[in-house]
Amino acid sequence: MCYAIPGKVVSVDSGKATVEYFGELKQALVIDADVQPGEYVYAQGGVVVGKAPEEDALPVLEKWKKHFFELKHIDAGLSRPGSGFGALSPVIEKARKTGTLAVNEMAAVLEAEENLEMLYSEANSIRKEMLGNACCVHGIVEFSSYCQNNCLYCGLRRNNRGLRRYRMSEEQIMDTVDYAVEQLGFKALVLQSGEDDFYTDDMLAGIASKIHRRHGILIFMSVGERSRECYRRLYDAGAYGALLRFETSDETIYHKMRPGKKLKDRVDLIKYLKDAGFVVATGFLVGLPGQTSRHIVKDILLTKSLKPDMYSFGPLVPHPATPLASAGKPGINDVLKTIALSRLVDHESKILVTTALETLAPEAARSGLLAGGNSLMINTTPPGFRESYDLYPGKAKDEALGQTVKNTLDLLCSLGRAPTDLGV
Ligand code: SF4
Repeated sequence: MCYAIPGKVVSVDSGKATVEYFGELKQALVIDADVQPGEYVYAQGGVVVGKAPEEDALPVLEKWKKHFFELKHIDAGLSRPGSGFGALSPVIEKARKTGTLAVNEMAAVLEAEENLEMLYSEANSIRKEMLGNACCVHGIVEFSSYCQNNCLYCGLRRNNRGLRRYRMSEEQIMDTVDYAVEQLGFKALVLQSGEDDFYTDDMLAGIASKIHRRHGILIFMSVGERSRECYRRLYDAGAYGALLRFETSDETIYHKMRPGKKLKDRVDLIKYLKDAGFVVATGFLVGLPGQTSRHIVKDILLTKSLKPDMYSFGPLVPHPATPLASAGKPGINDVLKTIALSRLVDHESKILVTTALETLAPEAARSGLLAGGNSLMINTTPPGFRESYDLYPGKAKDEALGQTVKNTLDLLCSLGRAPTDLGV
């Protein structure tokens, strides 16, 4: 099983390596690897995560070569520019040419009810032109379902007393990571939990350091609003990625949805993470009560202004044990339009198709990838734990991990996407 293929380093300059994959050049950050031109490396999320000895890399590349060009051909066939946008034509044309739109124009795209397939095609064709058929697949390990916060939209909220909580021990986390890396071939993993102070800074840094030394993969921490000192220690330990969404850019909605929390603190922390050198994934929720298309426009613009390495936005899926139990969930097209619009105004962005999207419609992951998305996550939390990480209803719990991996690879193949790095 392979979620990354090696590339050949062409040059290294100012902390960045230019890496070649079958004639395509991508750039990747060189944080702590000593790499030289002519060597083969694996890169994930725009970071060199390890070297591949030539005798290992060449057979892998030989195996992939024919398949890689077949995939490109499939992708080209599925990502032709859209046409016939009706009243939106001047807006789409402007977005393609400039990558910017006025707020009114962005809202018009989100409010469109016709020609949506054409809109998605256009976004998908921009994705192909700017980033090729590369697609990241990251694993996610949900290591604690405890949370001290009380966000109204979240099944892990403190007041959900009916939830059977768990905390994985360091050994259980390492076993899960070992399996994901050694048996399934992941080269990037997200370590996610509620905000749970049971895990001290020391413990988190120790776990990150152990994973980094043992596997050298790209580690994303998704542990909420920890201190800057904690994040600095995590980075020093080898966790170079951080996933932290701001959830909504609207202060009123934010204060209502996240009692006791300040939007400014969240956004400042995201900015800090970016400045500190983290590979940052951020974004927002689609479908929060009171959210309008104007709010989503602001959400997209805030995401873009934060210059994230990856956009991450999911739908609100109301959980029955939360105050939002009776809220409606957004339609699949609300999220697809958000993905497409983000691509229209940020051509080179990496856009994650979240696992939550799959609760809205069959084949939602496929639809998201065909609307401009180019990154996926697979839940690698072991059975026995994942049932209790009850963020939202409908979350995949039963499917065997091996089958999920196979289904994901089949999906990527059917869409012509290749596991080369997306670059920086
Ligand atoms: S959204 Fe995050 S911080 Fe809020 S309750 Fe859920 S896990 Fe905790």
